[in-house]
Amino acid sequence: MQKLEQIYEGKAKKVFKTDDVKRFIVDYKDDATAFNGEKKGQITGKGVVNNTMSNIIFALLEEKGVPTHFVKQLSERETVVKAVKILPLEVIMRNVSAGSFAKRYGVSEGIDFHEATFELSYKNDELGDPLMCESHALALKVVTKEQLEEVRKYARMVNETLKEFFLERGLRLIDFKIEFGLYDGKVILADEISPDTCRLWDVETGEKMDKDRFRRDLGKIEETYEEVLRRVKGK
Ligand code: UDP
Repeated sequence: MQKLEQIYEGKAKKVFKTDDVKRFIVDYKDDATAFNGEKKGQITGKGVVNNTMSNIIFALLEEKGVPTHFVKQLSERETVVKAVKILPLEVIMRNVSAGSFAKRYGVSEGIDFHEATFELSYKNDELGDPLMCESHALALKVVTKEQLEEVRKYARMVNETLKEFFLERGLRLIDFKIEFGLYDGKVILADEISPDTCRLWDVETGEKMDKDRFRRDLGKIEETYEEVLRRVKGK
């Protein structure tokens, strides 16, 4: 497969066309941003961790019946994926209060929810990815009713699978963000699942094992990303 011109550069990844119109190649960078791009930095080795970890998780999710864009890892930082059209929605599932949830409702982090919450944000950097309720997503034709049903079903499957997967590796899955795309008219999981997009707390120590170390200047950033990948690969 031939890597052709770059079609997109995001905060953490570049996307390239290939000689196959149904395939893209994504290239993961070490660049890190937070607070809608206000805080910028580099996390050495992050691209390798996020690429490898996402691929392991996407392969597991496929086994569990969640269709994903994952095709084949090419190198430490590059992966062949299905050429999807991304739905402009960030889908956030939460098992425990943290981050913007804790801030919005003025509650502490660490409240265990009986049932995971499901929320949508409209993917739009200029507007700062505002929270979007389902009826607004439908009104603006961001998704159809049928697509939204699929999104909700797959998001729950991802949460159930990953809660167990991480727990077996000594990590509590607090919350995460996923994105979906359309491929052959079907909704499939796209983007990435990594310490950039999940909150993971060590079961024993409660230590934050995710991008909050960068957001909140907690130190040991690179080491933490490496440790999460080590646990994801091993157990
Ligand atoms: N998240 C993400 N990208 C975003 C916003 C959130 O990957 O643009 C992830 C974040 O890492 C966390 C979850 O989604 O695991 C919930 O984030 P939250 O809404 O609490 O926002 P934050 O605290 O990051 O502002």
